[in-house]
Amino acid sequence: MKAAIYPGSFDPVTFGHLDIIKRASSIFDELTVSVLNNTHKTSLFSVEERVKILEEATKDMPNVKVDSFSGLLIDYARKKNVHVAIRGLRAITDFEYELQIAQTNSKLSGGELDTMFLTTRLEYAYLSSSGVKEIAEFHGDISQCVPDFVAKLMYERYGHA
Ligand code: ADP
Repeated sequence: MKAAIYPGSFDPVTFGHLDIIKRASSIFDELTVSVLNNTHKTSLFSVEERVKILEEATKDMPNVKVDSFSGLLIDYARKKNVHVAIRGLRAITDFEYELQIAQTNSKLSGGELDTMFLTTRLEYAYLSSSGVKEIAEFHGDISQCVPDFVAKLMYERYGHA
């Protein structure tokens, strides 16, 4: 069985992430979208909330599982016996950062963990969770960025409900 992990913050999941999830899940037999519990980053939604949001957003994709992890991706992947990590690439600015992480993971895992990049569809290239949060904070229109139920949760969190 071909399996992959798509790790990230997903705070919250956007249409850009969902496009990568849909495409990766058609390439692999099983895709685990896993929320990184990063204690150095302040987040809008807790890890548990982000997992729930992802579960709801991917409920029609039967081979997509949602999970969370802390610590190193290579340790988590090894535990799950998965050898491919998925990452999305938007622009050249993502490239340098992503390349460094991919090479670090490859080195640290002794070549056990490969990273596969999917390039974003052009209509989502501008999308980032942080950008969407900035718009939502000021009650702007985020209907093109995230599913409706996510927009509602974000407005609630920013006191616009
Ligand atoms: P990070 O994991 O760096 O904290 P995110 O959770 O926002 O960031 O993103 C997880 C992965 O999804 C990263 O590989 C990121 O480049 C990718 N990604 C984010 N937004 C988009 C988008 N609009 N289109 C395609 N890929 C994206």
